[in-house]
Amino acid sequence: MTSTSYPILRLRRGKEESLDRFHPWVFSGALTEMPGEDSGIEEGDIVRVAASDGRIIGVGHFQIGSIAVRMLDFADSIVDSDFFASRLAQAYALRRTLGLRRPDNNAFRLVHGEGDFLPGLIVDVYGPTAVLQAHSPGMHFARDIIAHALVELPDAGIRNVYYKSETTLPYKAHLDPQNDYIVGGFDTDIATENGLRFHVDWLRGQKTGFFVDQRDNRELLRRYSAGRRVLNMFCYTGGFSVYSLAGGAESVHSVDSSAKAVSLTDANVSLNFDAEAGARHRSYAEDAFKFLDNMEAGTYDLIVLDPPAFAKHRGAIRNALRGYQRINFRAFEKIAPGGLLFTFSCSQAISKEQFRLAVFSAAAQSGRRVRILHQLTQPADHPVNIYHPEGEYLKGLVLYVE
Ligand code: SAH
Repeated sequence: MTSTSYPILRLRRGKEESLDRFHPWVFSGALTEMPGEDSGIEEGDIVRVAASDGRIIGVGHFQIGSIAVRMLDFADSIVDSDFFASRLAQAYALRRTLGLRRPDNNAFRLVHGEGDFLPGLIVDVYGPTAVLQAHSPGMHFARDIIAHALVELPDAGIRNVYYKSETTLPYKAHLDPQNDYIVGGFDTDIATENGLRFHVDWLRGQKTGFFVDQRDNRELLRRYSAGRRVLNMFCYTGGFSVYSLAGGAESVHSVDSSAKAVSLTDANVSLNFDAEAGARHRSYAEDAFKFLDNMEAGTYDLIVLDPPAFAKHRGAIRNALRGYQRINFRAFEKIAPGGLLFTFSCSQAISKEQFRLAVFSAAAQSGRRVRILHQLTQPADHPVNIYHPEGEYLKGLVLYVE
């Protein structure tokens, strides 16, 4: 097979500019013509993208929607099993450089979409199991090749690959993906992060089962936890709660509206602490807004707010900012003097500046004296492709509230 057998999609004049700067998306409006049903080009096919003068810019996965092509390479390449094996080896080499596969740490993101030059693909590793998530039809069709390349990565220790894309693929593509193991099967569900252990439920949990993107921020929380009364809002698997207990918190209260999340948190506390140490922890299956409204001022001197993405798309930004302002206001209003607030937004549609403004407004509304101690972001295994700044999504502030 040669790349010349891939169909060519041509750009309108002047539309090659962003691609010449390696931005990995081709919007449908940039094409001279969106391929129709009789074109023989199907969603998920590999296509060559050409400038208006016919010059081939690169190759990518075709998709019906506002993003028409996700670029895989800025060269006239062949996208075969060697291509994926080489991209995955590069991704793993970076994680080795980052020192993320250690005896006391085996949970990390191996592939972060555009950040690893594999747009549409997410791979999280939990010990011997990799969880693969496709966000584009092209990656869905490549899933078997990718899964086999993952288990063949030298020294990565991946034996099982679970495919989980039932909720991440475009519904209209009618791909009917089944969540299932492509290689291997169920092994251990326990992953280790910075020496702490967590049950990871990739079968029923959110996303790939665990939020590895908070690893560094949890470690920072551990350092500030000694002797503090901690409230962990939106706890999900209890990541922040476990680190806080490990850091010597006087007490930790975890809140999530999902009863399943609360029982996962409880299970993870039991996994790491004996009954006596674990007795410092309590969990509540409650709505966060209600909990914050009802709690007494001064009860906590460290609060973590790590809500789900309030804005899943641009249209939801205004309401989302109001939501961030509201929960942060309650935290400012009620946190004990000398308290620390760890506050986050994982909404990609909301910028660092917008989030900071929402938190600023909440602080001003509360009238407290507030200083920024740390400005947090996603960890290095969620790299941001410099040509695709949209890849930066996690924002956090650690605030000292007097
Ligand atoms: N902090 C977590 C990740 C949070 S994910 C971690 O470190 O892993 C977001 C969580 O918020 C989910 O578990 C979801 O059940 C919970 N959630 C969503 N809406 C909520 C609400 N209104 N009140 C409380 N919890 C909520």
